[in-house]
Amino acid sequence: MSTSRSIGREQARVSHGRILQPWTLLGIVLLHVGAGIAIWYGASFGFSWRSIMLTGIYTLLTGIGVSVAYHRMLTHQSFRTNSKLLEYALVYWGGVAGQNAFTWVLNHRSHHEFGDTEHDPYSYYWPYHGGVRGFLWAHVIALVYTFGRPAKYASLPRSDPYYDVILWEQKWHTPIFLSGFFIPAFIAGWEGFWLTFLRVVYVFHVTWMVNSVCHMWGQRAARGIIPGRNSLFVIVLAFVGEGFHINHHLNPSSAYLGWKWWHFDVGKWVIQLFELLGLVYDVHRPRAPSSG
Ligand SMILES: [Zn+2]
Ligand SMILES: [Zn+2]
Repeated sequence: MSTSRSIGREQARVSHGRILQPWTLLGIVLLHVGAGIAIWYGASFGFSWRSIMLTGIYTLLTGIGVSVAYHRMLTHQSFRTNSKLLEYALVYWGGVAGQNAFTWVLNHRSHHEFGDTEHDPYSYYWPYHGGVRGFLWAHVIALVYTFGRPAKYASLPRSDPYYDVILWEQKWHTPIFLSGFFIPAFIAGWEGFWLTFLRVVYVFHVTWMVNSVCHMWGQRAARGIIPGRNSLFVIVLAFVGEGFHINHHLNPSSAYLGWKWWHFDVGKWVIQLFELLGLVYDVHRPRAPSSG
C-alpha cells in the first residue's frame, strides 16, 4: 500500500510552472451562470419563504462543513472527534459546498507554511505584488491552476489522522456535491434547485475572500510581518468565524478563530456544543487572550 497520496498525476510536471485546470474553470463559470439564472428566476417568479429557509440552512451547514470540518478539523487538527459519524457528516457538508477536501487541506497547509511566497497557492502578494491582479489571483484565479510545491506539501501521509475521511470525500465528491442540488430540488422543486447555485456561489466567494480580502484590509498583527487580517466585512459575511484571519495566522492550531467569548464565530460555538455533548475532545484553545 502506498504510504501517501500525491496531489495528482501532474505532480511530475508542475515544478516547471502552473497548469490550467480547464474543468475547474468550466465548473466555476457554470455555477456563476446558474447563480445568474437563479437571480432572474427569483426576479420573475419570486421565491417562497420555505425555499429561502431551506437555502439558509444549507448555507449554514456548508459554511460549518468548510470552516469546522475542512479547516479546523482536517487541516489544522484543532480538535478530535469521538464519533466517526460526526466526522464523516461534517466532511459531507464541506463536499456539499463544492470544495474538495484533499486539495483544500494540502493547499491550505502550504498557505500557512509559505505565506505570501512562491509556494503559497493563493497569495495576494505573490506573484502579482498585490493590487487588482493580486486580489483576483488570491481570490479565484489561483484556484484554477495547479503548480509546484515542496513534496511534503504535495502529498497526504497515510499517518494523517483524517486520511480515510479525506480520501472518502475525494472518491465521492461529485455525488456528494450533486446531492446538494437534488435534495433541495426534491424538497422545494425548481426554487430549491436554482437557489442552490446562489448558495454555492455565495459560500465560494466568502471562502475566497479569506484568501483575498483578509490579506488586504483589516486589523493586522501588532508586531512582525505575519500575513492575514481580521476583516469585519468577512466576519459578518462568513458568519462561521473565518473573518478573524490574523487571529488564525497567529495561532493556526486554535479551534477558536474569534478568541473572545462574544466574538462572532459560529464555528467556535458549534465546536463548544459538540464538546459539551462529549462528541469532540482535545479542543485547542487560543494561546493568547486577544489579537492585540
Ligand atoms: Zn491567510
Ligand atoms: Zn488555516
